[in-house]
Amino acid sequence: MESINPATGERIADIPAWDDAGLDRALEAVARATPAWRDTGFGERARLVRRAAAELRARLDEYAALITREMGKLLRESRAEIEKCAWGCEYYADHAEEFLRDERIATDAGTSYVACQPLGTVLAIMPWNFPFWQVFRFAATALMAGNTAVLKHASNVPGCALAIEDVFRRAGFPPDVFRALLIPTALVERVIADRRISAVTLTGSDGAGRHVAAAAGKHLKKTVLELGGSDAFVVLEDADLEEAATVGAAARMQNAGQSCIAAKRFVLVEAVAEPFLARFKERIRRLKPGDPMREETTLAPLAREDLRRQLHAQVTDSIAAGAKPLLGCEPLPGPGFYYAPSILDRVRPGMRAYEEELFGPVAIVLRARDEADALRLANDSRFGLGASVWTRDPAKGERLARAFEAGSCFVNGMVKSDPRLPFGGVKDSGYGRELSAHGIREFVNVKTVWVR
Ligand code: NDP
Repeated sequence: MESINPATGERIADIPAWDDAGLDRALEAVARATPAWRDTGFGERARLVRRAAAELRARLDEYAALITREMGKLLRESRAEIEKCAWGCEYYADHAEEFLRDERIATDAGTSYVACQPLGTVLAIMPWNFPFWQVFRFAATALMAGNTAVLKHASNVPGCALAIEDVFRRAGFPPDVFRALLIPTALVERVIADRRISAVTLTGSDGAGRHVAAAAGKHLKKTVLELGGSDAFVVLEDADLEEAATVGAAARMQNAGQSCIAAKRFVLVEAVAEPFLARFKERIRRLKPGDPMREETTLAPLAREDLRRQLHAQVTDSIAAGAKPLLGCEPLPGPGFYYAPSILDRVRPGMRAYEEELFGPVAIVLRARDEADALRLANDSRFGLGASVWTRDPAKGERLARAFEAGSCFVNGMVKSDPRLPFGGVKDSGYGRELSAHGIREFVNVKTVWVR
């Protein structure tokens, strides 16, 4: 496992990956901790999860700096990420019991009800783009439901994996209720197959999702998959163009464009395409790449050199096929894995930029004849994670929101996750939900109890 600072290209740390024996010891320790954690009441779990939130806040600066050093995002984004993890923990500490309460249902029994009980140990395979939030989003729910958890984090953020394990240790969790597994991808199938693992959740690319789902299917393990997205950002004729351009730029460029729910496809109704683009381009052009630790920097590097290479290949292949670069569309010279803030216009079906997820600071533009054509283009994607629509008519916006083939649809707002609302996708963006009452019920045995 290696940590490389994406802002400089310098190696920060090499952490040796575990072998089979190390993995086996960890799985055994977690298996031993599972029955007692399952029997811990909601009150005690909530107390510990709240302490994890307090721990995150107490060491916010330290954890935020670690995120920025390992995967490159702006320090203020890292700070916001830690805050959000603390919020997620507190939200589930407050609500898990109510979400999982027995549900009485009248039948021919004397009493019959549904009890939501923990499954056991859940394996979480997580990516580097929100290296704390993706993990806490899962862990706060799984732990509050009474499951134990093992984390296989992305290989480029081992420091974050160990720091997260430490958050739970410092918060006073019993040993081995949450463990980071420092293992390469080659060992993941072994973990999925292991009888001590009950279920699997993965956030990452659809390619990784397919491998993990196939392995989990073979071993009949429940999965939740939160995969990539290519969210449409639809601007209708009656949109507030100033606001749409400001929010659109933020929605595309957050985290240097490396977010599953970033606005990726700008679907513009022809009548407002040019005035929107003028405003949008102005905002994107103002972004300042630089040291992500510095306050004045507004565009961070990409997390890895290979990701930058992949993004540039997607862009150049699309240009060769007829797309028009409006801004940027090239790597930035100098140390670090920076890519110019970019806009790619005239993107058409068959081009890589149309068919694939662009995980970096590149907005693509699709022009629509009218509202119906905009809806058609928005839905013409193999992904279905999020979508947003901009219009001064909220009723029209809502109609489109209901017609989008996506898991989260926002009217006049940026797609974002919120612990109170379910989060997840349809089509190649995966299945299952995280967050809200829906998320916590993914990894429980929804048990029927019938008593005469
Ligand atoms: P991956 O999907 O490859 O990595 C995500 C996680 O899955 C990592 O922990 C990774 O481990 C693990 N993984 C990868 N392949 C397998 C496998 N066959 N079996 C088990 N686990 C696996 O993402 P990348 O980092 O390579 O990024 C590539 C692309 O994925 C991005 O350009 C973007 O399009 C998409 N992506 C989407 C994310 C999202 O939030 N939806 C997040 C990250 C990436 P390891 O690091 O050891 O390979």
